[in-house]
Amino acid sequence: MTVDSSENTYGFGTQAIHAGAPIDPTTGAVIEPISLSTTFGQLEPAKPLGIYEYSRSANPNRDNFEAAVAALEKAKYALALSSGSATTALVIQSLPVNSHIVSSGDVYGGTYRYFTKVANTHGVAATFVPDLVADLKANLKENTRLVWLETPSNPTLKVTDIAKVAEILKEHEFNTGIKPLLVVDNTFLSPYVSNPLSHGADVVVHSVTKYINGHSDVVMGVLATNSDDLHEQFRFLQNAIGSIPSPFDSWLAHRGLKTLHLRVRQAATSAQAIAEYLSKSDKVIAVNYPGLKSHLNHDVVVKQHRDALGGGMISFRIKGGADAASAFTSSTKLFTLAESLGGIESLIEVPAVMTHGGIPRAEREANGVYDDLIRVSVGIEDTEDLLQDIEQALNAASA
Ligand SMILES: *Cc1c(COP(=O)(O)O)cnc(C)c1O
Repeated sequence: MTVDSSENTYGFGTQAIHAGAPIDPTTGAVIEPISLSTTFGQLEPAKPLGIYEYSRSANPNRDNFEAAVAALEKAKYALALSSGSATTALVIQSLPVNSHIVSSGDVYGGTYRYFTKVANTHGVAATFVPDLVADLKANLKENTRLVWLETPSNPTLKVTDIAKVAEILKEHEFNTGIKPLLVVDNTFLSPYVSNPLSHGADVVVHSVTKYINGHSDVVMGVLATNSDDLHEQFRFLQNAIGSIPSPFDSWLAHRGLKTLHLRVRQAATSAQAIAEYLSKSDKVIAVNYPGLKSHLNHDVVVKQHRDALGGGMISFRIKGGADAASAFTSSTKLFTLAESLGGIESLIEVPAVMTHGGIPRAEREANGVYDDLIRVSVGIEDTEDLLQDIEQALNAASA
């Protein structure tokens, strides 16, 4: 059985299992073999035996993974890259020289680094704004070619209305004839919770390293689009730049993707329970979680996220400052103190001294990243065990 992305009548779980997962025509293998060959035989010059020539240009494992992601993102096309960062680089590389980007302010650190320290060498400049819905219009310039949107934001989990941003860009196109690309980094939610293309994005990007692979054992990226022209351009760059994932990583990430719906649903269920518990605790100052009704943008969550799910990421401010944050994160037994997110195991970190340590204090605090802020990536352990671990660590930190 083969399911392609045009057969969108199947539910998410069915597509996760079957899209891009054909039965091997030569052996009948239900699980695709890992195709390590770098080159493929030809019958006559320029007449390959099958559809493959050279593995940088295309490889069966990468093709199958890309077909699966395209189906789950409700996209016509997907392209896999060697990391989420390589995906960002490829998208920016596609812009003409001297282009201008408008970006969400609190984007992933590596994205900020790429926009400010690498893109500038090609004359591409970025303006960062706190709130794209409120600030985009005033910051669009004649040479603005791309808008970069990350929702929820990292680590304070603010949610941006993608359709509203797309609307502003449509109006800009109507007035000027120029339509900057709207690119959404959907890493924090995964395609199970949100499909940005359905809300008006032109391109969706993921660090596969996080939820899509989901087992903290592959670094990889992917982008998806419905545009034939963009796809052609990105595919050309994928081959020309060559930052492609290995067949083994493509195979592993495809295996991980098949349980995405189960993992993300479980993580979101536990995260909701933990966020509610934290918001009632007298040891906590504030909780950032899109699934809470008290979240500033909960109305957007309701229309933009599947079943109003809040996802698996939480951040909260603990009473007692940096010392309490340090004591708490050193006291958890199930939540491992580590960077990264989106894996089956729960992780915890202090952004001010870890993932966001490179940002000056004033700028960091303006974005809500105080010394006492703790970021949690909820895994798929039992909810009750995770709640008890949070409770005992809160007690330990306040003792
Ligand atoms: C991790 C991450 C990236 C970068 O991905 P890598 O696979 O680590 O290169 C980009 N965006 C977001 C939101 C991320 O969390």
